[in-house]
Amino acid sequence: AQTDPSLGHRGLACFLVETDQPGFMPSQITAKMGLWASDTAEIALDDVTASSDSMLGSVGDGFKVAMSALDSGRYSVAAGCVGLARASLEESISYANERTQFDRPIAGFQLVQAMIADMVVKTEAARLLVYKAGSVKDAGKPSTLETSIAKYYATETAVWCSDKAIQVHGGAGYSRDHPVERYYRDARVTTIYEGTSQIQQLIIGRAVTGVDALKPMVAELD
Ligand SMILES: Cc1cc2nc3c(=O)[nH]c(=O)nc-3n(C[C@H](O)[C@H](O)[C@H](O)COP(=O)(O)OP(=O)(O)OC[C@H]3O[C@@H](n4cnc5c(N)ncnc54)[C@H](O)[C@@H]3O)c2cc1C
Repeated sequence: AQTDPSLGHRGLACFLVETDQPGFMPSQITAKMGLWASDTAEIALDDVTASSDSMLGSVGDGFKVAMSALDSGRYSVAAGCVGLARASLEESISYANERTQFDRPIAGFQLVQAMIADMVVKTEAARLLVYKAGSVKDAGKPSTLETSIAKYYATETAVWCSDKAIQVHGGAGYSRDHPVERYYRDARVTTIYEGTSQIQQLIIGRAVTGVDALKPMVAELD
């Protein structure tokens, strides 16, 4: 909540809000492309009240609290994407050995192996970037840059690997007979939520150039 509009984002305070009051209005978002097992809702707050002992941190800390939540959220999205990439890879290896064309398993075609090899490399790189961000977090150091690098790479890798897994499966991959179409639908949102890939690029770019291309957005909050 904004406590003093003249302070911009420095006037924000973060509150936990009781959900059993009339102004708390969730509305379910249906017809999503993926994440069908997860409820997603839009939440509107109209004249809700919150007591001062439900404040997280102090007045003025709201923006920082929200940003620190993103460091954890982004990290867990990145870690989940390593799993999505790995599952895409494992399904592809299994199917490529099982499916025969021209009297041999399709795993015997070099171009199929090329797709699988690229999935191996990207999945391994994503895993190591997540481990690196995790080790910085475990050391209690600021991990915004490492988390953005891991989130950016791991989410793009999950989308790439699940797309290639469908390709390895051919037409069968486009049907619900195999899990890879679901992996793709579930992966697709990960480059969007918890900060889009473009926002991760801006965070990484800011860290290495020292020039803050995100600044106009923060300035707009002022
Ligand atoms: C399934 C699902 C669950 C979600 N869960 C949550 C949740 O729990 N909590 C929550 O707060 N939000 C949640 N979101 C919202 C999500 O975080 C936003 O959709 C996301 O941040 C992108 O914002 P937007 O949709 O307004 O896109 P826009 O901001 O309109 O972006 C559109 C495009 O413009 C680009 N763009 C925008 N601004 C810039 C810029 N300054 N520089 C460069 N490129 C830019 C984006 O990268 C993107 O490519 C969820 C969304 C989905 C789909």
